[in-house]
Amino acid sequence: MEMEQTSNPLKRSLAKARALIPPKCWHCRQWLPPHQAKAAYPFVCAPCLENLPWTDPAYSCAHCGQQTAESKRLYCPHCLENKFHFDQLWGGFQYEGILQQWIISFKFGKHEQMARMLGKLLALSLMRYQEFPEIDAIIPIPLHRKRLQQRGFNQSLLLAFHTFPKDSNLQHHWLKRVRSTIPQTELPAAQRFSNMENAFQASPQVQGKRLLLVDDVITTGATLNAAAQTLKEAGARSVNVVVLARRMFSSELKATT
Ligand SMILES: [Zn+2]
Ligand SMILES: [Zn+2]
Repeated sequence: MEMEQTSNPLKRSLAKARALIPPKCWHCRQWLPPHQAKAAYPFVCAPCLENLPWTDPAYSCAHCGQQTAESKRLYCPHCLENKFHFDQLWGGFQYEGILQQWIISFKFGKHEQMARMLGKLLALSLMRYQEFPEIDAIIPIPLHRKRLQQRGFNQSLLLAFHTFPKDSNLQHHWLKRVRSTIPQTELPAAQRFSNMENAFQASPQVQGKRLLLVDDVITTGATLNAAAQTLKEAGARSVNVVVLARRMFSSELKATT
């Protein structure tokens, strides 16, 4: 899967021309210094990068990623209440501020090109965690066919593609969304778990595998929980989760996923 190659000669020469212009910071719009303008950098200047709402790995619940008052919690009141089917969750950022605006613009504004920047930010944030699970395959949360047609792309697949090394075992056909559900944004938190029942179907290939689910945002965890349950019932050995952003319940609760 190569996202940036095109057979259209006009598009190709435009891409070449763009590569000659140094990029601007996605936040403050200042030109980036040459050493930051390299493709490996996430296109955000150093001061803006520092001010992003990074999660604090020491004060994140290891099981569900929720912010905790005590360090190194394995479970928190939120996950004890919900009993999630996934094993552990790694969250890059808190879902707030500029990061929230970027995700909304990426997903609902159809700004597909932001995937590269967001993926690089997520990769950078994961490097702060000391432990990371052994995995056999990465599975992005799938969209139902109808939603995919509306949006034109699956944001979780693009994120996973740009976050992990190119030789990662990215398997986007191992989990399917078989039921078209009411968008979680339109439901109160209490109904989100029942809305996701039987929404997914897993391929028999997941049997015995250590899997990593990838999604853009986690709010109640209902979507990721249903996906993890389906994968575990199909025989997956472990299901861990990586999300770009985590809604923290101590911050203003405005449900978006
Ligand atoms: Zn900046
Ligand atoms: Zn928790």
